[in-house]
Amino acid sequence: MSRFIFITGGVVSSLGKGLASAALGALLQARGYRVRLRKLDPYLNVDPGTMSPYQHGEVYVTDDGAETDLDLGHYERFTGVPARRSDNVTTGQIYMDVLSKERRGDYLGATIQVIPHVTDAIKAFVLGDPGDEDFILCEIGGTVGDIESLPFLEAIRQLGNELGPERSLFVHLTLVPYIAAAAELKTKPTQHSVKELQSVGIQPDLLLCRSDRELPDELRRKIGQFCNIRPDAVITANDVPSIYDVPLRYHENGFDSAVFRHFGLLGKCPDPDLSGWQRIAGITAQPEGAVTIAIVGKYTSLPDSYKSLTEALSHGGLEHKVRVEIDWIDSEIFEREDTIHQLEGVHGVLVPGGFGERGAEGKIAAVRFARERRVPYLGICFGMQLAVIEAARSMAGIPEAGSTEFGPCKDPVVGLLTEWMHGEELQQRSADGTLGGTMRLGAYDCMLADNSQVFGIYGTGTISERHRHRYEVNITYRERLEQAGLRFCGMSPDRRLPEIIELPSHPWFIGVQFHPELKSRPFEPHPLFTSFVGAAVNQSRLV
Ligand code: GLN
Repeated sequence: MSRFIFITGGVVSSLGKGLASAALGALLQARGYRVRLRKLDPYLNVDPGTMSPYQHGEVYVTDDGAETDLDLGHYERFTGVPARRSDNVTTGQIYMDVLSKERRGDYLGATIQVIPHVTDAIKAFVLGDPGDEDFILCEIGGTVGDIESLPFLEAIRQLGNELGPERSLFVHLTLVPYIAAAAELKTKPTQHSVKELQSVGIQPDLLLCRSDRELPDELRRKIGQFCNIRPDAVITANDVPSIYDVPLRYHENGFDSAVFRHFGLLGKCPDPDLSGWQRIAGITAQPEGAVTIAIVGKYTSLPDSYKSLTEALSHGGLEHKVRVEIDWIDSEIFEREDTIHQLEGVHGVLVPGGFGERGAEGKIAAVRFARERRVPYLGICFGMQLAVIEAARSMAGIPEAGSTEFGPCKDPVVGLLTEWMHGEELQQRSADGTLGGTMRLGAYDCMLADNSQVFGIYGTGTISERHRHRYEVNITYRERLEQAGLRFCGMSPDRRLPEIIELPSHPWFIGVQFHPELKSRPFEPHPLFTSFVGAAVNQSRLV
């Protein structure tokens, strides 16, 4: 019988609800409990796959091929539990479900209403797909007071009532701002936010108050009094230097104790083992050195668009006890004369996943710089495709090499499978669901060549990694590229899709068609990132 913890947010967005939920999950795990985290998103999009990274940050892809909210990445990194398609739902999916049932006649002609039909579908999602978890944490996206959150709040209100306090808990995350002119922390926004929740029938059991400083006891008492909450359930969530300090700070501030007290488990549950988090916090606070990695991409002013990537780099840094500093570079800069020198002095160059022609030539220029100057290079997805184009042009004598993603070209070294696979072979693939022209999503196996650098890095010959792309490196160019010195060292099990390339003549030059960053975790850094940061550490000794 799982217990349910519902997490809502108030006052403003971007308070870090996803991180708070992930950290709570980690704290419950630290006491030996099994957890699952799920996200309920009130927006109308069916999934975040088509949402602009400018607005919505990174699209996180699960093993089972779902394009989900980036908070699922936090959940997976903090708890180590692989996220699944069924861990994320949006209003769009709920309505699709309700409307297709209506079309099928499942409601037998009843009038379809938000309550009960939409709320029932939300409740069915929350209670559905049961596992053996002790705690299921459900984060409600958006901010209390948004019109679109209402059906979700109504659904969890009903669930709270049906499950009873012994099986449900409501956590509300708010902001307690410090007003410099008055030299005071202000509780009014929190009071209003809780009132808003109460107006839809939800009394939060626990308040998590984001603040840039510690909340004095008397202020927590005041908040408790106004919001009808025990003062020891008003928890300070003050700013911390690193996100990996969050579980430790929450524990110090009594978050997990308040949760266990609510469920009547305090004193009955084991003490938490937080040694792993302490170790990480220690390294992060006092690294033994630093390396600089240039990320050459399109959304460089919006680090949330590359959330998993920056996390994976910092995990790689933990293994070497170094801080990884990121130099965000908009690739379009390199399309202008005399700009590539901006890469001088960096210890590694990374071209991440991306779509579309804008800035692609600038990324190719960055690849060339890394290759020629022997700077460690990691190309992820688009970054691998562009590395192959660069190698084709500069090493294999194919000057018009390009990708059909940018329009027709003479030598499509990157393109859609349908552009070079025909007849039976293509049909076979389409039966696998991997036909070009549709997105290749989720986990696929990849076979590594013996004696390759990547075989050494992974320490195994078969790996499974997550994909999100439409285009592929064109296998028909393999021979010419290999003769020129590029090695196709990772292939799909049927040997038709190039998944990894490396440049044996270079100290560290690897391109991968998948997204290794999606599987990196602080306690289990991804081997490619550990190795890449290690190469950057070596590079830092040279420059
Ligand atoms: N645009 C490329 C493709 O669709 C790469 C995608 C990516 O980098 N995620 O294949």
